[in-house]
Order: sequence, then C-alpha cells, then structure tokens
Amino acid sequence: MIDLTRGTRERELEARTQRFIRDVVIPYEKDPRIDHHGPTDELRRELQAKAREAGLLAPQVDPEFGGYGLTHRETATVLRACGYSMLGPVAMNCMAPDEGNMHLFQKVMTPAQRERWLRRLVAGEIRSAFMMTEPDDGAGSDPGMMTTTAELRGDEWVINGRKWLITGAEGAGMAIIMARTSGGATMFLADMDTPGIIVERTLGTIDRSMPGGHGVITLKDVRVPASQVLGEVDQGFRYAQIRLAPARLTHCMRWWGSAKRAHDIAIDYACRRKAFGKSLIDHEGVGFMLADNELDLKQAELMIDWCAWVLDQGHPGTAESSMAKVSVSEALYRVADRCVQVLGGMGVTDETPVQQIFRDIRAFRIYDGPSEVHRWSIAKRLKKEWKPPTA
Ligand SMILES: Cc1cc2nc3c(=O)[nH]c(=O)nc-3n(C[C@H](O)[C@H](O)[C@H](O)COP(=O)(O)OP(=O)(O)OC[C@H]3O[C@@H](n4cnc5c(N)ncnc54)[C@H](O)[C@@H]3O)c2cc1C
Repeated sequence: MIDLTRGTRERELEARTQRFIRDVVIPYEKDPRIDHHGPTDELRRELQAKAREAGLLAPQVDPEFGGYGLTHRETATVLRACGYSMLGPVAMNCMAPDEGNMHLFQKVMTPAQRERWLRRLVAGEIRSAFMMTEPDDGAGSDPGMMTTTAELRGDEWVINGRKWLITGAEGAGMAIIMARTSGGATMFLADMDTPGIIVERTLGTIDRSMPGGHGVITLKDVRVPASQVLGEVDQGFRYAQIRLAPARLTHCMRWWGSAKRAHDIAIDYACRRKAFGKSLIDHEGVGFMLADNELDLKQAELMIDWCAWVLDQGHPGTAESSMAKVSVSEALYRVADRCVQVLGGMGVTDETPVQQIFRDIRAFRIYDGPSEVHRWSIAKRLKKEWKPPTA
C-alpha cells in the first residue's frame, strides 16, 4: 500500500532546501551572468560552492559520493523545493542531464570510471552531456533509427555520426555517446576534448535555464578504448531505459517547483491587483484559473509521488514514469499558461520569472519522449493486455 508519510530526514532536507532557494538562490536570478543558454560556468561554480556549504550539493547521490542516498520519494520532496527557482537545480547539481547521468553512472560504471568521471561530476568540477538524438534521418522519437556508428578497430572503438539538441554540450567535460554497434547500440564515455568531437554550434531555443544550451555535434573518427564502454557492448538501449524512467520523473519534480512558483506569484498578483471595483481573484474567471492550478498541481504532485513510490519498490517504472511524464508535463504547462494570463501584460515581461517558466516548461512536453509517443506506447500496452470478453 502506498504510504505518503514523510520521514524526519525528508522534512529537514525540504525545509533546508526551501531556505537555501529563498535566501541564497533567488537573489541571483537577475545576475547578468545568466545568458540565453543559462548561467555561465562562473556563476554555476559560485552557486554550487554555496550549495556545498549548505550541505545541499547533489543531495540525491549515494553517501559514497557525498550525497544522502535519497529514496525516489525523498528526492521528489527535495527536487520540488529546489525547482522553485530555475537556478536551483544548477546550484544543487541535480539538473538535467547531469542528474540522470549520475544516476546511471552509479548503477553501471566500473570503479575506475567512477573515479575518473563520476566523482568530478558530483563535485561540480565538470558537467556532462548525453548524446542520443540525431538530425535528419537519425534517432529522435524512435531511437531505433540511430545512424551514428561505432566500429571496433583493433582495441579501439571508432565513432562517426552527428547529434543534435544535446543539452549542455558546450562547456561539458565529458559525454555519454550512444552509437549503433553490430548487436544493438552501445554507450561510450568520452572526454569532450577527445579529438573528433566537434561542437558545431549551440541552437537558439525557447528555454534558457540549462547551462550550455543545446548543441549540434559532429563525431568524426572519435577513438575510444574498450575501457570507455559504459557497461556492456550492445546494451545501450537497455541502459537508456534505466536512465530514462527516473530522469523523466526528476524533470517532473523540478518543473513542479517552478510551476508552483509561478502559481504563487499569480495568486499574489490576483489578490493585490484590482479591476472593476474588486480584487482580480474575486472575479470568477480569475479565481477559477487559480483553482484549476491548485487541482493540476496537486494531481501532478500525487502522480510524481506515486511513480517515485513504484521506483522505490524496485520496479523499473517504465510504464508508470511514461504516464507521469505526460500527465505532469501537460498539467504544469497549463499552470504556467494560466499564470501568464492572470498577470495580464506583466505576465509576458521579465518583471517576474513567470514568462521564462512558461517558455522553459513548453519544451518538457517534447524531451524525454513527446506526449504523443508516450500515449502511443500506453495504447500499445492496452492492446497487448486486451482479452476478448469470454461470455
Ligand atoms: C530542450 C530540449 C533538450 C533536449 N536534450 C537532449 C539531450 O540532452 N540529449 C539527447 O539525446 N536529446 C535531447 N533532446 C532531444 C529530445 O529527446 C527529442 O527532441 C525527442 O526525443 C523527440 O525527437 P525529435 O525532436 O527528433 O522529434 P521527431 O521524432 O521528429 O518527432 C516529431 C513529432 O512527431 C510526433 N510523433 C513522433 N512519433 C510519434 C508517434 N509514434 N505517434 C504520434 N506522434 C508521434 C510527436 O508529436 C513529435 O513531437 C532535447 C530536446 C529538447 C527540446
């Protein structure tokens, strides 16, 4: 039976995160070192030093790496609090794609690989990228269309291909590169300064909270030794699933915090601002929008907690995280959209973070699987499980 009771550690970490976000992180939100592709490396390091002081740097990872080894449920509580500022996940080193990569690394890396990359990643010394999606005829919604190849020549793998929409590629220290191998796909680990990894350019995008933006990458005769295979050869798609289920959910957690922030700002505005002789919130059209936000936020919170609980039971959570991802990403988008509306003209200005939250949340309905692909796979499961009525 699902139990939503919060333990002492969870409540203490939530309160500490809330204080850290309010007192330390939010004052940085207008810092000029935030550009179109998120906070600069200098700002990221400054924020992460403050999180370290507060004992909140990468809290989700195992104690062996300096975290608290949080359960998925505890992670949900902490990351929702962290997402209240869009700078929060960067400050606490639990942003995408690094958080998902750290999770996979803890599960699959060899001890030597952990020392070489994971420790530095958790400490914030480097950032990482995850290279799966490709332009043109390559991998996208359908990763099976992957065109990047890796060929074993002697004792080295040689990788060739092109990737795009790769978050954080510009400025990353290392990357997971997914490439097709003879029996499926394989994940390779590579330092970003490996010859042949070329960041062609960073795309202009609707969002701006992810450091490094989203890059276009050429992989030209990139050579990596066998010791840089992550896990086993040909198991890349399986590892992508191990990474994806919890990573989808942590996106839900962080964005929940941001949507809650937008909602709080909208309530404040609707209570203070008057039109036609009364507060905006007393006009049913506005009050109902805020009430619908409450409903969407509560349902999203429960969906996240349910899926986190499933993962905590040791289940892969593939179907559950897929349902949570669609439901939460769409609910939070509706919340952000209503908040823009409630704020009137101010809703589209930089005077509050609401417009940026609205823009950033939009992309969440696409990455980690577009809503349509999740619905399609849910429907496929329904058909598979369907049995004709016996009577
Ligand atoms: C902000 C952002 C960050 C990202 N970061 C990364 C990253 O770090 N690393 C990485 O590898 N990738 C990343 N991506 C890529 C992301 O994973 C892909 O955009 C996503 O998987 C969809 O692939 P696509 O863009 O090629 O869309 P396409 O595959 O071209 O699909 C386009 C549209 O077709 C529709 N569609 C597709 N299949 C179906 C179906 N079966 N049924 C119904 N409709 C369907 C959907 O509406 C979909 O949005 C990022 C994307 C964004 C927007």
